[in-house]
Amino acid sequence: PTIAGRKSPGMTLIAVPIMVQDAHAALSEAALAKDLGSDLVEYRLDEFISEAESIEAAISLVADSPIPCIATCRPTWEGGHYEGDESLRQELFERLIAADHPPRHIDIELAAFDRTPALESVLRDALANAGDLAPSFIVSMHDFETRPADLTRRILRLRELDIARVHKIAYRARSLRDNLELFELLATRDKPTIAVGMGEFGLMSRVLAPKFGGYLTFASLRESSTTAPGQPTIRDLLDLYRFRSINAKTQVFGVVGWPVTHSLSPHVHNAAFEHANIDAVYLPLPIAAGEDPDQSYASLKATLLDLLANPSLHLQGLSVTLPHKENLVTLAREQSPVAPASSRSHESVLAGTPSAEGDSSAATKSQRPWHLDALSARANAANTLTVHPDHISITNTDAPAALSCLHEAGVELASSNITVLGAGGVGRTLAIALADAGAQVSLANRTIERAHAVANAAASLDPPCPGSVHPIAMDEIPNNDAAYINATSLGLSSGPNADKNPLEESQIPELPPGTVLFDTVYSKGQTPLLEAGNKRGLRCIKGLDMFVRQAAAQFQGWTKHPAPAGLMGRVATERLASEPDA
Ligand code: NAP
Repeated sequence: PTIAGRKSPGMTLIAVPIMVQDAHAALSEAALAKDLGSDLVEYRLDEFISEAESIEAAISLVADSPIPCIATCRPTWEGGHYEGDESLRQELFERLIAADHPPRHIDIELAAFDRTPALESVLRDALANAGDLAPSFIVSMHDFETRPADLTRRILRLRELDIARVHKIAYRARSLRDNLELFELLATRDKPTIAVGMGEFGLMSRVLAPKFGGYLTFASLRESSTTAPGQPTIRDLLDLYRFRSINAKTQVFGVVGWPVTHSLSPHVHNAAFEHANIDAVYLPLPIAAGEDPDQSYASLKATLLDLLANPSLHLQGLSVTLPHKENLVTLAREQSPVAPASSRSHESVLAGTPSAEGDSSAATKSQRPWHLDALSARANAANTLTVHPDHISITNTDAPAALSCLHEAGVELASSNITVLGAGGVGRTLAIALADAGAQVSLANRTIERAHAVANAAASLDPPCPGSVHPIAMDEIPNNDAAYINATSLGLSSGPNADKNPLEESQIPELPPGTVLFDTVYSKGQTPLLEAGNKRGLRCIKGLDMFVRQAAAQFQGWTKHPAPAGLMGRVATERLASEPDA
């Protein structure tokens, strides 16, 4: 069926929902939506319709709309706010159909046709008497809690309803994997279809709607005016994700972690893709992790293997962050029956043929061989996945980024004593990479056992590290190392210890001139460590420098284009500066 007024047949529209309380205010919101680039607005009349006179006002609102619209009056039984009776709603629909300036669409819930069996014939009669501009019906189903167990039955019922011109299916995505089902619904649509995953796991379905031929996607005017959980703002949709350029072939990248909502990476990578004119989009990709590490690993594995097995998604690369960096290495090892080669300098190849004990279905084993690089294997942490035509590579760009910052600050890695504060994921990776580069590393950690565990792991590596890792307590920090690296979370402006310095304030004045202080934590403003270091006139390295270098290395690895590192740095700095104070 053709839909009147679509700009071009393949284009996915943007609709901004407006919860109408007052017609005048709704019209100015609609004008703003139009200015910001929306194609449609959806007037949510749930709280506006309460009596016959309000129907008149709704008809005037639609007639005065500066932009084509959807009229919706969502009842409480479908997650909306309309509490009136069905006969008034039916009168609203009939009057809107007969209006001189009708809305482009009227949205009616699938359940309304079950509750009122005569509804379809009433609407059909009204349409028969309407003019050429008669609205077409979006018939919708919503579940704000979960994926409905009877989804297939409901879709079959939708398909039986002849009066539906557009199908809308919206439910709360339980994980990223639910997006794949929504894409499948779009691929197998028999009419123009809106398929929306609500909640933070569903953002992908909203942003990638054009890739799979979705009829429209919803976007809010501002953060505070979303009408469904997970709705992006129209600015983010158009400027951050470049929605208008997304098409069936657009490559998909993203950051996997938990949480990832406030990650800088989508801002930095999308800006780089735009600058380099690459047809790609980069998304936050949350994969839930809880107390149970086995469960977190199971979620990562199931999600990544499903996303990678979907050829039409064109997933080309992932940044992987807390708490999945170790899980990524475990997954890479599990994808192969062969242990990683032990060379420090070359990527180790993990054979990709199915192991004797494992099965090779998409959910357990991917089709392509996985290659795990030596650093990730030795540090047991990786932050980058790259899809190549014939294999998947797992690499670590954190440590090379940190080492290049130190090198540039004049630290001779092969002959230096370096203190690393923190033996968590980043601390362990840096300690091992530094020892591999020949440094003598003192590794301090609040929980000393963790520092011992890293030192033991470093000592048992084969081939051995040219340098070494010595565990020390936080109150045993040496006074004359070439560099001090903070890899704890102390000083993080969004964390509980924003004002804490991992080094004793009294120790910093003792450090010789030329000492390098490196804070891997990047924060809005200066961290306490670097503030003290700058006062003392020491050489300071900001965590943002490391972040931008690791992101630039990912970009280069994924695209084979030189990374616009200057632009990436500016975007990251601006984004950090715009974050609200903790
Ligand atoms: P992690 O695995 O959770 O480790 C956290 C570390 O902080 C552990 O050593 C922990 O010590 C220590 N810590 C936490 N609270 C502490 C406290 N109150 N007092 C003393 N030590 C405390 O995290 P991660 O992945 O290693 O990340 C660490 C930091 O690196 C993050 O905050 C992040 O900002 C930064 N980072 C920067 C980049 C970049 O590109 N610049 C990249 C990744 C991470 P315990 O073992 O005793 O708990």
